[in-house]
Amino acid sequence: MNQRAVRKSLALSLAAIAASALALGAVPAGAAAAPPPSAVAAPPSSDACRLPAAVGGLGSGFPVDEQALPAVGTLKAALLLVDFEDHPASPASAAEAEANLAPGVEYLERVSGGRLEVTTTTSDGWVRMPEPSTSYPFERGLSYEDHVRYIGDAIAAADDTFDFSDVDVVWVTATKEAPNITYSPTTNFLDVTADGNHLTHAVTFGYDQWRWGGLVLAHESGHTLGLPDLYLFEAPPEDPGNYHAAVGGWDLMGLISGAGPEYLAWHRWQLGWLDDAQVVCARGDRTTSARLAPVALSADAGPGQAAMVVHPLSATRAVVVENRQPVGYDEAIEARGALVYTVDTSVPSGEGPVRVVDATPGSPDGLDDAPFAAGSSWTEPTTGAELTFRAGPGNTLKVTVQP
Ligand SMILES: [Zn+2]
Repeated sequence: MNQRAVRKSLALSLAAIAASALALGAVPAGAAAAPPPSAVAAPPSSDACRLPAAVGGLGSGFPVDEQALPAVGTLKAALLLVDFEDHPASPASAAEAEANLAPGVEYLERVSGGRLEVTTTTSDGWVRMPEPSTSYPFERGLSYEDHVRYIGDAIAAADDTFDFSDVDVVWVTATKEAPNITYSPTTNFLDVTADGNHLTHAVTFGYDQWRWGGLVLAHESGHTLGLPDLYLFEAPPEDPGNYHAAVGGWDLMGLISGAGPEYLAWHRWQLGWLDDAQVVCARGDRTTSARLAPVALSADAGPGQAAMVVHPLSATRAVVVENRQPVGYDEAIEARGALVYTVDTSVPSGEGPVRVVDATPGSPDGLDDAPFAAGSSWTEPTTGAELTFRAGPGNTLKVTVQP
């Protein structure tokens, strides 16, 4: 959850939080300029599909929010382990706390295809906070100011023995002994200076980390890097209580414990984790086909395999198709095939900037069986474009967009 979301939706329940390639037939660059023999033309530049951000803060447009940290390069994290006079931690439990978050770091490095390297410097054992745990009102509606005070106290308590001069993001994890540090908010507006370094980005890891496991670190880091929440801050009136009506468990920013917690291909493109050449832009004036590698393998996709097809609908909206197969972090998905979703760059975090199209509306499994199976098709209701999905070699998927 992002700090702006905290400010906006303080009453949010834990349940809510639960929250080189190319189109076939393309003419390679530098090839003879003869026109392709069929209606299948070279894809236009991905620029036409790079939808500009049309909302402030965290969202799904380009570029990501200016307050986000770079997602390519090295992210230098300070991990502060904190305990409290009313909930002291045993020295031995430090290793357990570190181990719980480690899978989140591994996730970021794997899903980025190595484009993001995370270096973590951990405090030398537990750092005692100056106030009892109950002075931080996580259970009573944590404000932005409360959160900054909590993070600031942790930094001040650690500062004597910790060098913050070269830190990009501060992670503060509370001892498991303090269940009243309930959840795990993020801020990109910290505004604390230590060792001459103006610290702006921080994540708190509270008791919910023991339910989510380490992927909570990757979700919160998504906010640090500019990604929005894809679960809904308010459930739709027609589907009360369903905070996951937009993307179900198909993206880590939607549901940490979902069966398919890979980042969506669109997110990877936003973060610079996909090359433009891996994005096939299907404009409305020609037929476009592409062969898609599974999203989980997009960093290592073979030649001729793209990561997604984007069919723009307007200046701020597009339909995206990606290939989801039970590999990588998608190992446990119930249904495989073409995951189709709309992206709207005018919709803010938590209000559904991404919405998955359900191939099986009304099924008891909700969005768990949302992908379109190979051999099926779908007509986009506003442009009338027909999208067809066929199995390709291995676990690839051939997608054709026919205007
Ligand atoms: Zn979030």
